[in-house]
Amino acid sequence: MRAPDEAGFFCPKALGVYIHIPFCLRKCLYCDFLSGPADLRVQERYVNALCREIREESTKYRGYRVETVFLGGGTPSLLKGEQIQRILGTLYGCYHMAGRCEISMEMNPGTADWEKLTVFRKAGVNRLSIGLQSASDDELKALGRIHSSEDFFHAYRLAAEAGFTNINVDLMTGIPGQTPESCQDTLEKVVNLKPAPVHISAYSLIIEEGTPFYESTPPLPGEEEERKLHEMTRDFLRGQGYFRYEISNYAKPGFACRHNQIYWQRGDYAGFGTGAASLIDNVRFTNSRNLESYLNNERKRTDCQHLSLSEQMEEFMFLGLRMTEGISSRQFLKNFGKTIDQVYPGIIDKFCGQGLLQRRISHKDGEWISLTDFGMDVSNYVMAEFLFT
Ligand code: SF4
Repeated sequence: MRAPDEAGFFCPKALGVYIHIPFCLRKCLYCDFLSGPADLRVQERYVNALCREIREESTKYRGYRVETVFLGGGTPSLLKGEQIQRILGTLYGCYHMAGRCEISMEMNPGTADWEKLTVFRKAGVNRLSIGLQSASDDELKALGRIHSSEDFFHAYRLAAEAGFTNINVDLMTGIPGQTPESCQDTLEKVVNLKPAPVHISAYSLIIEEGTPFYESTPPLPGEEEERKLHEMTRDFLRGQGYFRYEISNYAKPGFACRHNQIYWQRGDYAGFGTGAASLIDNVRFTNSRNLESYLNNERKRTDCQHLSLSEQMEEFMFLGLRMTEGISSRQFLKNFGKTIDQVYPGIIDKFCGQGLLQRRISHKDGEWISLTDFGMDVSNYVMAEFLFT
C-alpha cells in the first residue's frame, strides 16, 4: 500500500537503481567483483545492451519513482562521457525520475580527465565516489591499484573544479605493509583536501577466494593491529566532524549516501547490467553473470527467490543493525505482526547486558535498537544470533 502525501495523493513507490559496469583497466590483486578488462568494441556493445535492458524493463516500474541511481562496477569512469550520457538519458527517457535524484558514480583516479568529468556532470551525475584506498604509493602498489596517490589528488582537484561538491573517498584498512602512521597520514591528507570530501568509506581488506591475494596472501597487519587501525579511523573522522552512520561509512551532516540506505532499509531496488541484483516487493533476482550472454541480450534471471517471512526478518535485523541509528521496534511489529522480543526472546537483553546493543526511546517513533561502538567491532558475532538457520 502506498502512503498518501501531505495533499492526500498516493505517491509512487521509491526505487533505487543500480547500474553495473563490469570493466576495469586491470584487476586489483584483492578484487573478486564481476569486472575485468575489455576492448572498446565490447564496451560499446555493453552500453547498447544496457540501454536496451533499461528500456525493456521500464514497464515493470511504472508505479515507481527513481530516487537514487548508482553506477558501480568495475570502473564506470572508464566509459566515455557520451556513453554515460546515453545510459542516464535512457533512464530519464523511460522512468519517473525524482527531481532531487541522487546519481552516484564510482570513479577510479587512473581513469579521470577534465573532459569526461564535465560530461558526467552534464549527464546528471551529482555524486562521485573516488577509490583512493591509501595515500601511500607502496600500499597502492601492494594492492595492485592502477593509480598513484598523486593521480588521486589530481583527479580530486579536477572533480572539484568540474563542480562536484558531493564526493566520497574510499579508504581501506588492513593493507599489506600498512602501519598506524601510514593510516594516519592517509586520513589527514584526505580530510585536508580543499574542499574536504563530505563522505568517507573505510572498509577492511577481505581476502576473497579466487583472487591473487587468496592464492598467495601477502603479510597483513595482525588482528589486534587491524582493530587499532579501525578505532583510529573512527575516532579521527569523528573528531573531524564526520558522523558514522554505518559500520564502514562516515559523512558530514546531510551527506549520507541515500542509495546505500535503500539497501540497508530493504527498500526496492532494480539492478541493470550483468550480475546486477534486484529486490522488488521481497522478491530477489539477479541477472546472469555471463558477459557474452548479456551482450547478446540474453539476460537470464538466475535466482528468482521470494523471501520467506523469516528471511525478511533476518535481513531486517542484520541490514538494519549495520546503521548506527539501528532498527525501529515499531517498524518490526508493523512489518511482521510480532515484537522483536517475541521473535528473538532474550537475545536483545543478552546483548544489551554485554554492552553490544543498546535500546533508546524516541518520543516520535518509539524504541530503537542499535549496536554500540563495541558491538560494531564484533558485528558478525552479534548478527549471527539473528539468523534462523
Ligand atoms: S578498480 Fe575496483 S572493481 Fe576494478 S579491479 Fe580494482 S577493486 Fe575491482
